[in-house]
Amino acid sequence: MIVMKFGGSSVANAERIRHVASIIQAYKNERPVVVLSAMGDTTDHLLEAADEAVKGRVDIKKIETLHYDTARELGIDVPAIKELLGELGTLLTGISMLHELTKRTRDYLVSFGERMSVRMMAAFLEKSGVPAKFYDAWDIGMVSDSNYMSAELLDEVWDTIPKAFDSYKSGSSPEIPIVTGFIAKDKNGIITTLGRGGSDLSATMIGAALKADEIQTWKDVDGIMTADPRVVKEAHPVPEVTYEEAQELAMFGAQVLHPRSMIPCRKTGTPVRVKNSYNIKSPGSIIVEKHSGERPLVTAITSVKNVSLIDIQSSRMLGAAGFLAHIFNQFLKWNISIDVIATSEVSVSLTVNGKTPLDGVIADLSRVAEVNVKNSKAIVTVICDASRSSFILADAFASLSKNGINVQMISQGASKVNISFLVEQTQADDTVRILHSALFK
Ligand code: ASP
Ligand code: MG
Repeated sequence: MIVMKFGGSSVANAERIRHVASIIQAYKNERPVVVLSAMGDTTDHLLEAADEAVKGRVDIKKIETLHYDTARELGIDVPAIKELLGELGTLLTGISMLHELTKRTRDYLVSFGERMSVRMMAAFLEKSGVPAKFYDAWDIGMVSDSNYMSAELLDEVWDTIPKAFDSYKSGSSPEIPIVTGFIAKDKNGIITTLGRGGSDLSATMIGAALKADEIQTWKDVDGIMTADPRVVKEAHPVPEVTYEEAQELAMFGAQVLHPRSMIPCRKTGTPVRVKNSYNIKSPGSIIVEKHSGERPLVTAITSVKNVSLIDIQSSRMLGAAGFLAHIFNQFLKWNISIDVIATSEVSVSLTVNGKTPLDGVIADLSRVAEVNVKNSKAIVTVICDASRSSFILADAFASLSKNGINVQMISQGASKVNISFLVEQTQADDTVRILHSALFK
């Protein structure tokens, strides 16, 4: 068995759905389980519709038009989608009357995107003579906690998912399962979502629980690249990365896979292959536990923009026991996630997403230390064999200084797969280009 996951842009319109259907057909003999995201930008459109509804306006035209036009172009009649759109309209009317939107309601609302897209694909496959059946996540045992908008799957899914696929696995039911990504239900039967981009996690969870031969996530590019090809012309595909590297890549800006999605497949060692839907024959990139050959010195370079740097200085306190704990506790209190950290005897520097509201945490920290915030920074990360960092750093700094790039902070993860550099946001793309040409020789 294999799991095949297609993201929103792969199923954005009738033409793309036809194409994906042909890819699914090509893999029919591998007994695929297909996981889909919502069509195109439907999730964003649902969230916009929700915001409008809170203000008292109900408008689902965009979503309705996309789904009805697509169904018409595909020549299918999908009463199941019509029914969902009716329910969606009712829900939005409810929100517009209450002028209120809870996280729980928001999850119920965005779930419509994935639910419509699996109905569309299953109907089209059936029409094309390929037996297929759609499933909402809860029909295949996706149970989560009740942490709406970023729910965690419960451990019992390791049992409930394989049970749900018993007859498909044994071959007694031939219909290819087309399953919603991104969503689940909690113990009380309330719909939850796994966080934006969560379909990757749905796919790897299903693949790991089913002990699939491979989990494929289909993209529009040749797998994982050494850098964003829009920034670096010479960027090339990376044939193999480890789960750990893939996770760091995702955390540090590469739009490859949801960072959390590596967790289940790592447990079972199920390989994940990133494939190009425009180049089916190409092997893409494979994500595995360990490099098959010698570990490459450098694997890829990524960047995250809009980062804020927080400098915390206290000559009085820093050496004192518990000072770091105190600092981190303030971040915990304000629920702020820290990305990169560097410390010295008298200061701690750390970075956070630039959109994070910081007033509260700064006020708290200022009671014990001097705090400085600098905005508009970027983190450039080199995914590499950091145990050989002196080689990498020597080359990196030689070329960066030659090109006038000032590195403001550097951090080497204990995981030994990445080195991160903090630079001015305006120099981020140049930094990536310079490092790419210095390190991929
Ligand atoms: N449709 C959801 C999103 O846009 C989930 C996903 O695409 O993975 O975030
Ligand atoms: Mg999406």
